[in-house]
Amino acid sequence: MNSQDIKDYAKQRGADLVGIASIDRFASLPAEKNPSSIFPECQSVIVVGRRILRGALRGIEEGTNFGGTYGMFGYRWLEDNFLARTTYDLTCHIETKGFEAVPLFGYAEDGMPTGRPVAPGKPAPNIILDLDYAAHAAGLGEIGLGGFFLTPQYGSRQRFATILTDLKLEADPILKKTMCDDCQRCAKACPLNAIQPDKTTKNGVPGHQMDVASIDYAICRQCLNGAMQAPGRGNRPDRLGSACARTCLAHLEKTGKCVNRFSQPFRKRTPWAVDTFHRPVESAIQAAKI
Ligand code: SF4
Ligand code: SF4
Repeated sequence: MNSQDIKDYAKQRGADLVGIASIDRFASLPAEKNPSSIFPECQSVIVVGRRILRGALRGIEEGTNFGGTYGMFGYRWLEDNFLARTTYDLTCHIETKGFEAVPLFGYAEDGMPTGRPVAPGKPAPNIILDLDYAAHAAGLGEIGLGGFFLTPQYGSRQRFATILTDLKLEADPILKKTMCDDCQRCAKACPLNAIQPDKTTKNGVPGHQMDVASIDYAICRQCLNGAMQAPGRGNRPDRLGSACARTCLAHLEKTGKCVNRFSQPFRKRTPWAVDTFHRPVESAIQAAKI
């Protein structure tokens, strides 16, 4: 079983994106963030993605339906049902061939419960992988300045899960930064000024790292512009439907960056943006016009 077999099977089971990283690309990570802490014999990290339907964002973009369009089809069902099923089927396939496969979900570690080390020298459970790092290591795209993972196929519209396996696979090349042009539209379109593009940290595989803006997730937790929080996922809100990421998507599509093209632009009307009291924020509205 080689990398192409894995990708073909994953796509048969509904994956839109599949990338493979060799374990050495995680060597610089501390034990608390390292896949080898979960599975010491891990040779390859497979990252599986499914797209967020552009139509699942429509209700938020128009400001008329949040939970039933994005909340279910773009967020909870997508992670908990559709992507989970694809990930599970692929792990079964790998284990049927005699290799162990550890499925992991793409939750951020912020606010997730931590336990105590079970023995000296072991990091405390639960080890949670940085999915942006893993997807970058697997050659699926880049981390934009606004902190969204961007792929050439869908821009900001996808969700990921990972599989650790002791099957040694050929790794995909790491992609260069080609999607994010540092336009800062995501920051300017944020009605609550939660993104600070002038204050950045590096993220990504060493030698290929990108600048990512500081994001105040405590502010994002108050955001009424499409940010969401689903049960069991700690306290980092999901931003992929919010004003910041929708503006990034509109910008990427307008500049012809996304392979998945549509007959009509994503942003069709003057966008909306509100503060925590539901009052319109004119500066963000003007900045979000694409
Ligand atoms: S809006 Fe511009 S700066 Fe922000 S992530 Fe997208 S492309 Fe990068
Ligand atoms: S989720 Fe809301 S508050 Fe946070 S960066 Fe995006 S638009 Fe701003």
